Amino acid sequence: MSSIEILKQLVSFPVLGGESNISIANWIEDYLNQYNVSFKNVPNEDGTKRSIHCRIGPAVDGGIILSGHMDVVPVEGQAWDTDPFLLTDKGDGKLYGRGSCDMKGFIACCLAALPDMVQADLKTPIYFAFSYDEEIGCLAGPALAQDINNHYTEKPKYALIGEPSMMKPITGQKGICIYETSINGSAGHSSRIKSEVSAIHEAAKLIVWLDNKMDRLIQDGDVDHRFSPVHTTIHSGVLAQSGIAPNVISDNASFQWDVRVIPKNKAETILHEFRSHCDKVIAKNKDRFADFKIETDLVHSDVPALDCPDGSEIISFVTALLEDKELGTVSYAAEAGQFAEAGFQTMICGPGDIAQAHRANEFVAIEQLNKCDEMLQNLVKNLSK
Ligand SMILES: [Zn+2]
Repeated sequence: MSSIEILKQLVSFPVLGGESNISIANWIEDYLNQYNVSFKNVPNEDGTKRSIHCRIGPAVDGGIILSGHMDVVPVEGQAWDTDPFLLTDKGDGKLYGRGSCDMKGFIACCLAALPDMVQADLKTPIYFAFSYDEEIGCLAGPALAQDINNHYTEKPKYALIGEPSMMKPITGQKGICIYETSINGSAGHSSRIKSEVSAIHEAAKLIVWLDNKMDRLIQDGDVDHRFSPVHTTIHSGVLAQSGIAPNVISDNASFQWDVRVIPKNKAETILHEFRSHCDKVIAKNKDRFADFKIETDLVHSDVPALDCPDGSEIISFVTALLEDKELGTVSYAAEAGQFAEAGFQTMICGPGDIAQAHRANEFVAIEQLNKCDEMLQNLVKNLSK
């Protein structure tokens, strides 16, 4: 099957992040079985989801992992012109469908290259690593990367994450962490605002503190010119409905915020400073309201940044497979940092434009799939030498 034919199959499984991925995993496993490629599953606790990894080629050190996620984001509330789960060719050189770009296109190209990989006389192995729940916080990436380390006696050297990059070689990715801060203040008549602790007012001040913290990082020179924007961003995107009336002091408020870090910043450090600030705010207000609380929890796990150092062997290895050799970075979260933390030299390169992802009428250009097919052909050639 061609990569387009396989993509059509993969898009037809409406497996959203957070949901069971058994249907698409079964299909991929059946496909691997057709070529007698044995695979290993990394299931979740109750067996409703599983990652898949496999090796093609000899059990020797130095191989490359090709990695993608099987889940997609929802389509609810989006104005699609076509059925999002039916890959549609409108004759304009683009294939429309949820996940066509992010990132079933890459998985389709990997699977389409499988027959060649199996037949080739690979001297160094290729691994597939397909995860679930990437879209809700890269939840399965660490266990998948770890299982690859544990399962094989040999050690893969490289990991290539096929997130949409317009087939450009990507060496850096921002990390992300999402937090929720909840404030428990005291209620009362609004005329008593100086005697009570308004949760809404304290929430507003904390959001401003976070905004100022972002500016301080920039002023302190914490910038990385490989990224756009060049600095760590801190942003509050959810302010929970709170309060009952304009003339009643609200005793509760909460907001969610995300930190997207350049590799030299750590979300944990920012959180630590934020918490120390909150402790001071609590101390200052304790005499007005003894039960005043500010609590900050992780909404989902920390997704580390990717920082593939200049001169890493993977850079020459991957760029040798590509037409476009100019290195870039991305600002979206991906599993790349997690694979790097597991000990693999890691880069990102995949078909499609991230600008098309997560929106109505998501598409991948056929020309992008062709380029990815070509990259994988070059990979097979280079590893057969
Ligand atoms: Zn993705």
